[in-house]
Amino acid sequence: MIEVVTLGTGSPIPDPTRAGAATLVRADGKQLLFDCGRAVVMRLAGAGSLPMLLDALLLTHLHSDHTTDLNDVITTRWIMSPVESPLPVVGPPGTERVVDRTLAMLTDDVGYRRDHHADLNWDPSCAVAEVLDGVAWEADGVRVTAAPTDHRPVSPTIGYRVEAGAHVVAIAGDTVPCEGLDRICEGADVYVQTVLRDDLVRAVPSPRFQDILDYHSTCADAGRTAANAGVKTLVLTHPVPPPAPGTEAQWIEAAAEHFHGEIVLAHDLWSTTLT
Ligand SMILES: [Zn+2]
Ligand SMILES: [Zn+2]
Repeated sequence: MIEVVTLGTGSPIPDPTRAGAATLVRADGKQLLFDCGRAVVMRLAGAGSLPMLLDALLLTHLHSDHTTDLNDVITTRWIMSPVESPLPVVGPPGTERVVDRTLAMLTDDVGYRRDHHADLNWDPSCAVAEVLDGVAWEADGVRVTAAPTDHRPVSPTIGYRVEAGAHVVAIAGDTVPCEGLDRICEGADVYVQTVLRDDLVRAVPSPRFQDILDYHSTCADAGRTAANAGVKTLVLTHPVPPPAPGTEAQWIEAAAEHFHGEIVLAHDLWSTTLT
């Protein structure tokens, strides 16, 4: 059984209805969190989970909108765990450095809490594994493999393929179509892809906004990747810019020109279960 919950479907642009990038996958009793953007711990609670229950946090890349609440995941797991419980963190090369800096940032707070709670007699910690290609995490028949994606100049970046029993879920971060993305998506039941609308982005007269056009999948790109890989359901997330109310169908139609399976424009706490 695999359940996919899009915890946060937002992008760097603040949207009161969309938390930052994060997707929870529950696979045969394992809880895997992919990315940890803005307000991820609130959305985890909304999905009936908590940081202390996670079997691993897997990062697609180290852009802030995908990692900004790493500190909250670490701290909340630490203060709620009855025994020392290092957080397994998987990510592309560079992840260990970001985790170390996050733990360093938390040093003062760790001191306050340890001084106050006699039974909290360990520091928060993470068990970091850096991967680029190949097996990223595995336990009890649930396997996650990684493949490099293309979000240059942000590099390295990776996407993940979760396999449990006969079911396959592909979790892509920010990337344009590429060979590694095709590999993680091959035959997937569900393919979750961050997207932008190039027509809307082009209409905004801001050089900084125009910069993002060349390193994201458009809805059409996501549709083509889904069709090439023969996936069953394409889930569009992290839409840039945030869809105006009533325009959701346009996002789906843009992907549907290239892909004839099921297409969903995810909202926070949207979920699907494969049994
Ligand atoms: Zn992003
Ligand atoms: Zn990014």
